[in-house]
Amino acid sequence: MDKVECVVIGAGVVGLAVARALALSGREVMVLEAAGAIGTGTSSRNSEVIHAGLYYPTGSLKAGLCVQGSQMLYAYCAERGVPHRRCGKLLVATSPDQLPALETIRARALANGVDDLVWLTADEARAMEPELRCLAALHSPSTGIIDSHGLMLALQGDLENAGGLVALNSPVARADCSGANGMVLEAAGAQLRADVVVNAAGLHAPAVASSFTGLAAEHVPKAYFAKGNYFTLAARAPFNRLIYPAPEAAGLGVHLTLDLGGLARFGPDVEWVDGPDDLLVNPVRGDAFYAEVRKYWPGLRDGALVPGYAGIRPKIHGPGTPQPDFMIEGPLEHGVGGLVNLFGIESPGLTSCLAIAAHVARLV
Ligand SMILES: Cc1cc2nc3c(=O)[nH]c(=O)nc-3n(C[C@H](O)[C@H](O)[C@H](O)COP(=O)(O)OP(=O)(O)OC[C@H]3O[C@@H](n4cnc5c(N)ncnc54)[C@H](O)[C@@H]3O)c2cc1C
Repeated sequence: MDKVECVVIGAGVVGLAVARALALSGREVMVLEAAGAIGTGTSSRNSEVIHAGLYYPTGSLKAGLCVQGSQMLYAYCAERGVPHRRCGKLLVATSPDQLPALETIRARALANGVDDLVWLTADEARAMEPELRCLAALHSPSTGIIDSHGLMLALQGDLENAGGLVALNSPVARADCSGANGMVLEAAGAQLRADVVVNAAGLHAPAVASSFTGLAAEHVPKAYFAKGNYFTLAARAPFNRLIYPAPEAAGLGVHLTLDLGGLARFGPDVEWVDGPDDLLVNPVRGDAFYAEVRKYWPGLRDGALVPGYAGIRPKIHGPGTPQPDFMIEGPLEHGVGGLVNLFGIESPGLTSCLAIAAHVARLV
């Protein structure tokens, strides 16, 4: 049977970042990816925003890894020439009852170490973005946008330069984690022994972990899937910055993001779905976007939104329950030497990928 020191399951942005970190620390690394290319999962179906770390509970992994990850990501993009832009974002209150939410976010951001937020009056916000309607706004100058595919290619390049490799079309079917001499994985009909296994299978991470003999079931959360649909603007974007409404229970509200080509997209909304493959955008859902977007952009014309794409959040909580933290469990938690499971790596997973990688490397 072939043996490799470290196996990472999944070549999304998180799996690639983890594999790169392990390879740069001198380890032998192989990434097993089910699909025929890297980054075809959630990593290519998101808003491509480099978040500053405003929203997440202080002391949580999401807060710490996002703030650290955003700094690491800007430095990495500069060093490796990954296309990105520190365009900034405005978080807006459009009704008086949202003003306390903005205050709460400002205080939380400060507690998380984000000290560059600026409170703007409606006039000050409009001076920056003339088409915007709001009562007040928070300006986050360190929020930005990134080319997620460029990032993943750079991570893969670093991994391969350090001697690691990505095996495509190699879905991991199961693993035996009960032995004393490492774990035995079964992928694409072959068996592979590994000392370290990192499960970064995104939407499939709980299903993959359920197939691990020797891992107690109580360490595998139930998977839930929350689709986020995007609608794009069939016209030139009237904004230079990202515009976010006050956040909602399961997402960040129907916000406006820009890509590096200047295309404006609105979303994602929140649609709970039964599985990880339901990626079609139902055009009818666009009807609800108009009212939401017009709260901060009254100038949106009828018929201006066209169905874009959808991504699915790898949730580990169901509708109506509070959002949990990233669930990153290593040997200390579940008792299986060399195994790390990554569950619920939804937003800000892209922003946090380099910090998650450093965290995982410490666990193994
Ligand atoms: C709508 C939406 C918007 C978002 N916006 C942002 C944002 O603006 N900023 C931000 O920071 N984050 C954002 N996120 C979160 C971010 O996209 C994710 O946290 C990140 O992409 C997760 O990467 P991943 O590598 O864990 O998962 P994935 O990209 O899903 O990769 C998992 C990989 O595992 C592979 N795989 C699955 N099963 C197996 C198997 N059995 N064997 C081998 N391989 C397998 C899959 O094929 C896939 O390639 C958003 C997410 C969504 C859904």
